[in-house]
Amino acid sequence: MTSAMVKGPSPVTQKEQMDILSHGLWGAIAFGRNNRPSFWLAFVIGLAPDLFSFGILWAAVLFGLADKPDFSRGTPPESSIPSYVHHLYDVTHSFIVFMLVFLLVWYMLKRPFWELASWGLHVLVDVPTHSHAFFATPVLWPLSGWKFDGWQWMTPAILLPNYVLLSLAYAWFLTRRCRDADSSAAGVNPMKAGRPPQ
Ligand SMILES: [Zn+2]
Repeated sequence: MTSAMVKGPSPVTQKEQMDILSHGLWGAIAFGRNNRPSFWLAFVIGLAPDLFSFGILWAAVLFGLADKPDFSRGTPPESSIPSYVHHLYDVTHSFIVFMLVFLLVWYMLKRPFWELASWGLHVLVDVPTHSHAFFATPVLWPLSGWKFDGWQWMTPAILLPNYVLLSLAYAWFLTRRCRDADSSAAGVNPMKAGRPPQ
């Protein structure tokens, strides 16, 4: 039994879920800094846990295959969300499942596939930013049903620092990229300039 059933719906909105874009941006800057394909791969993998759980529900709603959950008065009871979303959420939001896949891919490729770690980061970020009120993170599934009763994502104390830190991280990233591009361009020319005449 989840404590959401004990607490009942809280006066929050759907937006209190960690916004999916932030997940992608954090994953990309943490594990996709090598080049552009790596960046976008880590970005998409950072979105994947939500895309392959709630994203499927929203797609089903879009195509008229499922009823739209009623978020108009805050988060609905978890029991109103189709059971397949719960199952998918368990799989996609388990750090245990992530680690097994990460290690398996590492074994198969003979090297770590770092962009995949964006998935693990998504799960770890979700742990403190979801409360028992609605889809707390099943971080230890299937070994344990323990879930941390965190703080809702849209709480200003979490939301604002997230955007500030994200902005600072991207400012650092973009500045460093520009500096690297400048220094590599400058590094080529002096070499050419300093090369003894043939
Ligand atoms: Zn998530």
